[in-house]
Amino acid sequence: MPVSSQLLKSALPPVRMASFEPCKVCVALLIVKAGLLRLKYVNALTPSRAVIGGFELSAPPTGATYAKDMPGFFTEEEEMFRETVREFCMKYIAPKWVEIDEKAAVDPMEVPVDLIKKMGEQGLFCIANSDKYGGQGGTYTMAAIAVDEIAYADPAVALAVYALLNNGWPAMLEIYGKEEVCQEVIPKVAKGEAFFGIATTEPQGGSDIAGIRMTATKKGNVYVFNGEKAYISGVGEAFVKLPWGGGFFLVARTSESPGTHRGLSAFAFIGRKDGKLRNGISPTVYHDIGRCGLTTGGFICNDVELEDVYLLGEEGKGFYYVMEGFNAARIVVAAACLGGARWLLDQAVQWFHQRKLFGRPIASFQGINFKFAELYARYEAARYFVYRAARLFDEVYFKKNPNFKPQDLNVPVALAKMTAPETAVDIAEEVMKWYGAYAYTKEAPIFRAWLGLFSYVIGAEGAQNIMRYIIARDTIGAEAVRKWWA
Ligand SMILES: Cc1cc2nc3c(=O)[nH]c(=O)nc-3n(C[C@H](O)[C@H](O)[C@H](O)COP(=O)(O)OP(=O)(O)OC[C@H]3O[C@@H](n4cnc5c(N)ncnc54)[C@H](O)[C@@H]3O)c2cc1C
Repeated sequence: MPVSSQLLKSALPPVRMASFEPCKVCVALLIVKAGLLRLKYVNALTPSRAVIGGFELSAPPTGATYAKDMPGFFTEEEEMFRETVREFCMKYIAPKWVEIDEKAAVDPMEVPVDLIKKMGEQGLFCIANSDKYGGQGGTYTMAAIAVDEIAYADPAVALAVYALLNNGWPAMLEIYGKEEVCQEVIPKVAKGEAFFGIATTEPQGGSDIAGIRMTATKKGNVYVFNGEKAYISGVGEAFVKLPWGGGFFLVARTSESPGTHRGLSAFAFIGRKDGKLRNGISPTVYHDIGRCGLTTGGFICNDVELEDVYLLGEEGKGFYYVMEGFNAARIVVAAACLGGARWLLDQAVQWFHQRKLFGRPIASFQGINFKFAELYARYEAARYFVYRAARLFDEVYFKKNPNFKPQDLNVPVALAKMTAPETAVDIAEEVMKWYGAYAYTKEAPIFRAWLGLFSYVIGAEGAQNIMRYIIARDTIGAEAVRKWWA
């Protein structure tokens, strides 16, 4: 592996169980009542703080850029949902995000298992899964709202990524998984006892899904897996840290046709069997530069057996299923970037009100306030793209609106995934410059947001140029664009 890795095998057994203490004040229940989703919470805003020279860094949010200004876009229920998720996040996540990021930067396995459990109890995972599987019976727009708020409270976005994966991929599992697998996995993910993410990327390259080399060979009633997955979020959580474990929406080759999308199948690759990691799985975790509170790792499969009940949908259709899944996951990836960007914009506004140079507030310099206006405009545009894509997803998958089909999501989703991460990272860099030397200290947490958000311009559910390709292909025309692609 090109990255320093830590063999997880050494951590097994025993599996380190979460020591969860039930929250007495925040009884985390999602009540679905007359179509109205409400979260119970207790309010107390206590974000983390650092002070240098009397100036307070990472002070409590001002709400300067709070998302209340898309008139008519969100329903009353959605606004109420956002408010309640925000209150939970400000109480339980905002005070801890810096500490989480700091600890996990040293030891990647120091992930916040207790907080994950609490978030599960609060109903922040499997929001769009039906309640018969322990999901919240909500919509994908609500999932995007929740992820946006989690990222605002944790702009290093580790918990937001945890939440987005455990909203996006369980939704796909419900569509393509067999009944008994949905019954087995989704309730545990919803409660924060298990992780369910995505595993497509391999060491030879993530963008080229058709080039996947891991094989899954049918032998009797099991598939036997051989090959390697790399840069996978949640390896530590799924294979070691969470009480039940979990796994991945994994794509592997089930028939010969190397280098093409034919012959790829999708699986619910559940790591543990009878409480133990399946024989033949060798996991690793990497030392990420940001977004540290969620592990990223890889695993080698050496004759790993998985029962055929875990095959998703039909054999040979994995490429199409995962493309659908990417459309779901990219929306919430982009939502996470919105939350991080909003926190950064708030940091800027606070700074503008306090910093004075040459006898005037720095906000009065047009070199600064014009740039702020441009970035804010980009943020608002990205926000529109994200929630428009989420709405469309609901039309296709929940309302089953006959006027739309899954492919109609391609461009709206790619617009959201292309713009939100790039906007967030550009905002982060500019805010760091506005903060001057303060930003270049570890006491000022802006760099954590910057490094966390940067993961999204690299990859995570598709590289940025792949978004550009999708937009070009579906607007200019596949014939013209594809000809030069291959
Ligand atoms: C923190 C983190 C977490 C991740 N979590 C997961 C996960 O949970 N599951 C998972 O499966 N993967 C995960 N990934 C991997 C991620 O999805 C990949 O990084 C992404 O798909 C890109 O693949 P790659 O990094 O191998 O880059 P490559 O595919 O090798 O691409 C390299 C560069 O080439 C560009 N490029 C590629 N094709 C073209 C083209 N045709 N035209 C122009 N430019 C092109 C890309 O934009 C990129 O800049 C994660 C990555 C990171 C950084």
